[in-house]
Amino acid sequence: MEPNSNGHIHKFKRILKKGKKTSEFGCTHPHCSFTRQADYLVGKAAACGYCEKEFIISRFDVNRHGILHCKSCGKGKKKPTDNLEANIEQMLKGVV
Ligand SMILES: [Zn+2]
Ligand SMILES: [Zn+2]
Repeated sequence: MEPNSNGHIHKFKRILKKGKKTSEFGCTHPHCSFTRQADYLVGKAAACGYCEKEFIISRFDVNRHGILHCKSCGKGKKKPTDNLEANIEQMLKGVV
């Protein structure tokens, strides 16, 4: 994604109205007031809210997360199947 006119990739955080979560997200950059509905953001590139790495926003992200972030920052809670995949990946890396 091209950096926008402010020279950054948007970092998105869910907008709260009267304490309620909305389906709208806004960029957290101090000089940016970009906001969009969740539906629009699916499939778009954004900067991770934690590590600032670029990633593509998924339907899951906008449904579940308050701060949109990349996959490597979302690895806190994993299902056993995910762990298995990660283990295999690490094993392969170990061989090299
Ligand atoms: Zn922005
Ligand atoms: Zn990240």
